[in-house]
Amino acid sequence: MIMQETQAPWEPRDTLRITGVRTIVTAPGGVPLVVVRVDTSEPGLHGLGCATFTQRFHAVVAAVEQHLAPMVIGRHPADIEDIWRMLHFSSYWRGGPVHNNALSGIDLALWDIAGKRLGVPVYELLGGRVRAAAAAYTGARGGTVEESVDRAAALAERGYRHIRLQAGGPGVGTYGGAGTPGAYPGSPYPDGWDVAHYLRTTPTLFEKAREVLGDELELLHDAHNRLTPKEAVVLARSLEPYRLFFLEDPLAPEHFDRLPEVRAAAPMPIASGELVSSVTDAARLVTSGGVDYLRLHVSAVGGLTPVRKLAALCELSGVRTAWHGPPDMSPVGAAANVTLDVTSPAFGIQEAHVYPEPVHEVFPGTLRTVNGYLTPSGEPGWGVDLDERAAARHPPETHLHERWAARVRRPDGGLEAP
Ligand code: MG
Repeated sequence: MIMQETQAPWEPRDTLRITGVRTIVTAPGGVPLVVVRVDTSEPGLHGLGCATFTQRFHAVVAAVEQHLAPMVIGRHPADIEDIWRMLHFSSYWRGGPVHNNALSGIDLALWDIAGKRLGVPVYELLGGRVRAAAAAYTGARGGTVEESVDRAAALAERGYRHIRLQAGGPGVGTYGGAGTPGAYPGSPYPDGWDVAHYLRTTPTLFEKAREVLGDELELLHDAHNRLTPKEAVVLARSLEPYRLFFLEDPLAPEHFDRLPEVRAAAPMPIASGELVSSVTDAARLVTSGGVDYLRLHVSAVGGLTPVRKLAALCELSGVRTAWHGPPDMSPVGAAANVTLDVTSPAFGIQEAHVYPEPVHEVFPGTLRTVNGYLTPSGEPGWGVDLDERAAARHPPETHLHERWAARVRRPDGGLEAP
């Protein structure tokens, strides 16, 4: 427990103060979720924020509790913008996914507190809704083309009008589909990812999908940052007949300066940015003409405070938003996504993870997609709670990710990014 209060830079308006900042790590859906809880001097008034960086969760916990908490305890929780800037600049070297997720946990918790103090959902603090709900897509993936298309048909039955299709081509490390045979003799990982196989088979997936599902559904596809600029153009052109809603993450972030040329040559909109962990890099993706849809992982960029500014930049630049909504994000983060969606005129589409029931037990208020839409909670703050006793029944498994990432390989044994 931090005993010394941080000196506020101005006299607070009232006696309310932040009294505690701590992390809760829980894995009710299998992957470790990191949530920050900020307590205040008003009994019962606390906030929750998503700080989930599954791949380095121990480091985020240390960043929150050892480095950021001492700068926040004693401050008035309403000074959200100043606290965000102080935490962001205080490390001198700004950003990075560990620090930004820690920052996001506190930032989102402060917005939660702000809503709860006034008894309103966070979207009312941002100027109110510009739409009732957010259209959502989720993924249909299988080991074969047929499996993927069958799963897409089942999702369409449940009301989804936007479906992301992936098949066995990407292999281990992307979506767990069947890998490509032909590994080098004696390989310990015979199910590698082969780009030539991927480029050859992906058009057959969409051909089959249009044949079975018809023309009304919106189909999306994620290349998961694995292509060179030329391979991306080859893939995009080969998919032209199937009228994709967007092609996601064709390039690795190291090659984002080449996105404008890929976008210019691609017949469908390009969505990218989920690996960005810098506000400045995200802004450049928009202003450089690299994307039609900006696709950020909100906690990796530092929370609502920076991302609402980027949403405004998208609105002014004719770019749409498509915030990342994977399993490795807590329901608090998912609620923040939907809050941005319903308050921003730039909203394009929302990725929705279908959380398993244990996640709903740990996080009462977790949003559910109904008929292809996510509707924000009308409860104060984010409208998502955390049952800490239930959370404790799902301890995270250390080194789960590390064991998996090490085996993401090409058939010749060369490393591939997960
Ligand atoms: Mg993706």
